[in-house]
Amino acid sequence: MDEPFRRYSTWLVSRYGERTYRVAVDAGFTCPVREIGLPCAYCEQGGSRAAYLGDHRSLEDQIRRGIEFLSERYDARSFLLYFQAYSNTHAPADELRAVYDEALGRGAFRGLIVATRPDCIDRERAALLGEYGSRGLDVWVELGLQSADDETLRRISRGHTRARFDEAVQTLHEYGVNVTAHLILGLPGEGLDAAIASAQHVSRLPVGGVKFHNLVVVEGTALYERYRAGEFEPPGPERYRELLVAAVEHLREDIVVMRLTCDPPRGVRHAPERLPDKATVYRQLAHDLHERGTRQGIY
Ligand code: SF4
Repeated sequence: MDEPFRRYSTWLVSRYGERTYRVAVDAGFTCPVREIGLPCAYCEQGGSRAAYLGDHRSLEDQIRRGIEFLSERYDARSFLLYFQAYSNTHAPADELRAVYDEALGRGAFRGLIVATRPDCIDRERAALLGEYGSRGLDVWVELGLQSADDETLRRISRGHTRARFDEAVQTLHEYGVNVTAHLILGLPGEGLDAAIASAQHVSRLPVGGVKFHNLVVVEGTALYERYRAGEFEPPGPERYRELLVAAVEHLREDIVVMRLTCDPPRGVRHAPERLPDKATVYRQLAHDLHERGTRQGIY
């Protein structure tokens, strides 16, 4: 049956002719808003790291272990290098070049993926990333927007505006770099209309991919305190299902849907207690779109 949304795993096979896997590395970058003691209100201590990284090891070691892990578990043979933790353009361009070159030299990678913040992108960094594209690699930058509403961005202490995100996207696009936008559905004060507005906003930009996240409020974050004070209720699996369907129906049809859920770190208290299960969310989204007679981008 024809898939009603543009699924990343399918897109990867059509792009590379085989299943292709991301090797996530932590190059030890930090994040400008954490450095000044004002992290995003939902950010847990570890930033976002692949579970197998554990502690911080050398790039060579991380890449070797990552490739071994993926090869043993999934019989993987095709890889993309993924700078995942914190803000991976938060350094001068010559330092970034040294780090990217070092890591790319440790494996036969078909692409480079760099996660960062909009305020860590300028022309110099965009030009550097564009150079890797000229060398034949697919280059993607993952940029957090989270919400297209400036009031929400202020409420969750993102430390940048929607306009700053838009500017970063345009700059990267000028240098031939693909962009994946991150959106969190169900942020405090946001419902169906906001989910739709965020999907519509990224659809108007030269964005090639979107990662959707369910809001997980983790103990130890500023947002957890507000949740405990009864200020808001994060969406449970049923509500998230509704938000996601609405957002996907309003997402431009050529945008690749790269993620639908996120998980909290193991052993940490979080809200809601019951979280959407990844495989179930994929199945339900396809089912709901079929049932409604809709598909990605229909609106
Ligand atoms: S930009 Fe990312 S790493 Fe930095 S505080 Fe926000 S969520 Fe955490």
